[in-house]
This record gives sequence, structure tokens and C-alpha cells, in this order.
Amino acid sequence: MDKNQILKEFSADPDRYYKVKLFEEQGFIRKACTKCGRFFWTLDANRTLCPDDGTDTYSFIGDPPTTKRFDYTQSWKQVEEFFVKNNHTSVSRYPVVCRWRDDLYFTIASVVDFQRVMGSKVVFEFPANPLVVPQTCLRFNDLENVGVTGRHFSSFCMIGQHSIPENGGYWKDECVDLDFRLLTQQFGIKKEEVVFVEDVWSGGGSFGSSLEYFVRGLELGNAVFTEFQGELGQHATLDQKIIDMGAGLERFAWITNGTPTAYDCCFGPVNQILFEKIGIDSDSEMLKKYFTEIAREIDHFDDLNQVRRLAVKSAGITEDQVNKIITPLEGMYLIADHLRTLIFAIADGALPSNVGGG
Ligand SMILES: [Zn+2]
Repeated sequence: MDKNQILKEFSADPDRYYKVKLFEEQGFIRKACTKCGRFFWTLDANRTLCPDDGTDTYSFIGDPPTTKRFDYTQSWKQVEEFFVKNNHTSVSRYPVVCRWRDDLYFTIASVVDFQRVMGSKVVFEFPANPLVVPQTCLRFNDLENVGVTGRHFSSFCMIGQHSIPENGGYWKDECVDLDFRLLTQQFGIKKEEVVFVEDVWSGGGSFGSSLEYFVRGLELGNAVFTEFQGELGQHATLDQKIIDMGAGLERFAWITNGTPTAYDCCFGPVNQILFEKIGIDSDSEMLKKYFTEIAREIDHFDDLNQVRRLAVKSAGITEDQVNKIITPLEGMYLIADHLRTLIFAIADGALPSNVGGG
């Protein structure tokens, strides 16, 4: 199904698909990005650009928008405490090896935990409603970016917030209200820093509107409202609508720490040992500049090497520094990332092999 077509249709009727109670209560303004035309919601009357194009994009590196600093584990504790306080059941993660689905090797999203495929039909089995889950997910579609971009991983922890509107759960209004309060109350991010972007999601025969939420250009989460099935135009409302909010725990830790990369705050102690072993003398001002530039430009070019060359130039890094600092650093982050992925996969029962896909 054509995502752009659905987005066009939904954005033509924002009151129906995107305007939640929170926007009205807080006075969010709906704007179209003056550069790319995408619609977003903000409390900042002067903002004209969407998070991807904004001038504040990735300015949290070296200058985090929170007064508190939470490491990776502490960030989860904050998220869990908030949702439990707000009547959610905290569920243990499911295995990363997705044994309950014949069509998947690995768990790629938190919602997969609760999907049961019966023939061509997907039914859901939620152990609680509403719930929150710290689901480790394995994804291999961005492998060449891992270690290089500062934010891509081969495994990550998806904060899954799930709810069915009936039987004690909730729908859009409460979902977005909770996500907003998680950022502003629990993490102490200023209200004006939070931007919601209109989007849609479609997959497995169903689709719905979604609101991605960003702080300083970093997408922290995406609240998907799975509502319809069938083809656009001939679609019907699902018997069971579902809130499928997925957020990146690594990014929550990153935004509170403002380190040059997300790897620095998520692999802390491991990085320290590797740093010492390879004897990198890291000038962190230089790295902050370099990785801010990488993060800003990554989506604007197809060729990663081009982005890298641009960042080297902007950060004023010499050829010698690239060879002695950047390249070994990228390798180090890559090793830490791949080790984590392997540990999860092997611990959950996957057997590495040199045959076929391994
Ligand atoms: Zn834009």
C-alpha cells in the first residue's frame, strides 16, 4: 500500500486523524514545514521547519535539554516507573529469537511479542492491558551504519507501550498525553522542545495514523494507532484497534547525556575498556562536532562516505586524526554493538553458523 497516499488522505483531515486532546489543551499549533511540506505540531509559534530540517537538529550533543542525566539502565527505570504509576503492567521482554512466528527469525519490534499468526490472519494476545515492555529487537537492515552514524545499532531496546481501547485500555488521546508527560514530567524536557510529526504506518494488511515525537531533531518514539484493514478507500475499521507505541531506549539515554554518540552512553563501561586498550586520545569537542555533523547529514545523502567526508571537513579533522581516532572509534563501537547482539541471540537460543544466513 502506498504510504504517501494514505498520509495525504489523513493529513487532509487532521481533526479526525491527528488532533488529540493534548494539542488542544496545551495549545499546539499545526504547521507545514517550509522546506519539505510535512505537517507537524509544536508549541513554538516561531518554528517553521520540521525536526529533520530544523536548525536545532542534534544540538543536544554537548548540550542536553534535561537537567538530569540517566544512563541506559536508569533510563528504563524512569520509563517503567512512569508507566507503572499510570496503571500499566510492566511485562518482561520476550526472546529475541522469534520462535512463535514462522515468518521471522528475530523479534524486530515490541508489538511482535503479542502477534499470533493464524494462516493469513494476525491475532493479538496481550498478557495485560495497557502494558509496557522493554523489548530487545534485532534488525539487520542498517548494518553499514552501525558504529559510523552514532545512532544505528544491530540490536536495540524498544520501549513498547501497548493498549487496546476496550477493557481498561485507552486510545489516541491518552496515549499522546502519556508520551508527552513521560518526556516533560519524568525526563524534565521543556514542553516547547517536543515536536509531533504526522505520519502513517501500514503493514500486514492493516494501517493507521501515527505521531512521531522528536526532541531537537532526534526521533524518540512513534505512536502508531492501528485502526484499519484492507486497501485505502475500501478499508474497514479493525475489530481490535491497537496502540503500538515504540520508542528507542538508547535515544532516551542519549538525549539526557548529550554524548557525541548513543554508543558512548549505552556501552559505557565496555567502551572505557576498549578506549584504554586501543589508546585513543579522544578530543571530545572534536568528536561532538564530527558526530553532530554526521547525524545532521546522514538522511540527506545516499552515500555514507560522502557524509563522512563532509563531517571530517566541517569538524576540521586532519587525515591523521581520521586514521588514528575516527576509524578505530567506529570499529570499537561496531564491536561493542555486535557483541551485545550476539550475546542476546546466543543467550536466547540462536546458534551462529557459517552456513547460509548463519
Ligand atoms: Zn521538513
